[in-house]
Amino acid sequence: DRFLASLAALDDAVPPPHRVADRFAAVSPSRPGHFENTPDTDPAVASNRDMVRAVLARVPGSEVGVATIEAARVTSESQLDSRLSAAVAAAQGWGALTGKERGEILHRVGEALEARRADLIEVMASETGKTADQADPEVSEAIDFAHYYGELAAGLDNVDGAVHVPEKLTLVTPPWNFPVAIPAGSVLAALAAGSAVALKPAGQAERCGALLAEIITPLLPDPGLLTLVQVEEQALGRQLVGHALVDRVVLTGAYETAQLFRSFRPDLPLLAETSGKNAIIVTPSADLDLAVKDVVTSAFGHAGQKCSAASLVVLVGSVARSARFRNQLIDATRSLTVGWPANPESQIGPVIEPAAGKLLDGLTKLGPGETWLLEPQRLDDTGRLWSPGIRDGVRRGSAYHRTEYFGPILGIMTADSLDEAIDLVNEVDYGLTSGLHTLDPADLGTWLDRVQAGNLYVNRGITGAIVRRQPFGGWKRSAVGAGTKAGGPNYLVGLSAWQPAESHA
Ligand code: GLU
Repeated sequence: DRFLASLAALDDAVPPPHRVADRFAAVSPSRPGHFENTPDTDPAVASNRDMVRAVLARVPGSEVGVATIEAARVTSESQLDSRLSAAVAAAQGWGALTGKERGEILHRVGEALEARRADLIEVMASETGKTADQADPEVSEAIDFAHYYGELAAGLDNVDGAVHVPEKLTLVTPPWNFPVAIPAGSVLAALAAGSAVALKPAGQAERCGALLAEIITPLLPDPGLLTLVQVEEQALGRQLVGHALVDRVVLTGAYETAQLFRSFRPDLPLLAETSGKNAIIVTPSADLDLAVKDVVTSAFGHAGQKCSAASLVVLVGSVARSARFRNQLIDATRSLTVGWPANPESQIGPVIEPAAGKLLDGLTKLGPGETWLLEPQRLDDTGRLWSPGIRDGVRRGSAYHRTEYFGPILGIMTADSLDEAIDLVNEVDYGLTSGLHTLDPADLGTWLDRVQAGNLYVNRGITGAIVRRQPFGGWKRSAVGAGTKAGGPNYLVGLSAWQPAESHA
């Protein structure tokens, strides 16, 4: 019972103490308890399977979003100036609405996203190679963001002692790996907070961004409120981050990109969720069958291309010494179907680009003392399709221990005690997600006291944070700037300027 009680306490995990103060913890949804997470498509229902098959059949020749993104390409500085000026002009009326009024529009966006679920799956599969089983929950998450931030927006109207001052223009630069949920969440949060948005989709996922704009923009009172701006990747910092009309940047991407953005405009408010090197610890008391399942899903879902993915598993004591966990892990990993997303059977799709550089090293080279339990195989001549790999014997301080690879590779480390395992986890520069598999409450307490990561999961995989239930944000080099968590109660509060009520005439 004590164990279950401590798990229940984790459910609405509070941010680590070093994060932004809960100054506005009083913000509460207008209709408390109204929010419900959106269900994914249930594959047990035959008509749903038919829907997915029909979508996937369209994937190879899909043209979703093409026209919109072509129209969004920025070809001159004056064109960019006029688009951003139009956004700033639109922000005037939008910021003057009440949060509740903006929230109602977000609820309509949530309904529109649900109505376009099939198209959203199609464009993700076609453009980034995401498999349908990964793309579908991403649509649900985008819908959750719409309704959740819609609820929170109303809370901005009644904060005691402070007045919410919307920013005029927020620049959103999302990644390609969650090409719908992350841009949708960032855009909708900024809109909810009263800002206009310039969305610069990732180069490898620009059609996904375009489709989102097609869905959201018609529901806004002024089309200028959401401006798609596709600039050359190299010009991103100078042209957009450096643009005087931009008031704030919301970035999800590499730590180095956040540093670069900082260097362009050191004073610009920046909210960045950055890289991760995440581990799951498996202790001797763990339910090993469950641990194997959760490690495999966390390591290889979306071919390991999640900031939240498990790149390491740390086996403690007797789990490390026996062959059982390793053998089950090999079997479970071998059972996964690797393939292109047009095949509905595919569970692991391609990596985003032909493996090269760091990722190719991770897939093909072993460090000192390491051996392959499963050596990754290149499955076709595109260089994008790889069977998942598992390396054993990863040493403390080695390249594999500390590097984020962003691909279908998992490394095994061992420790004599839980404390030693936590040391190994904490030694990396990042602190995004972290997992513990144990049935011993004492282990749980030790780990909670010591582990350094923004998102903690017990007896569960470490990917797939659920809006409201698991607010998502990093620690250490996994976050730069304001540290409020996406999908959590303080996210909108972190996206605006505030004034004391008495100084506001
Ligand atoms: N929110 C995602 C998850 O919980 C990860 C997002 C990312 O990869 O940036 O799996």
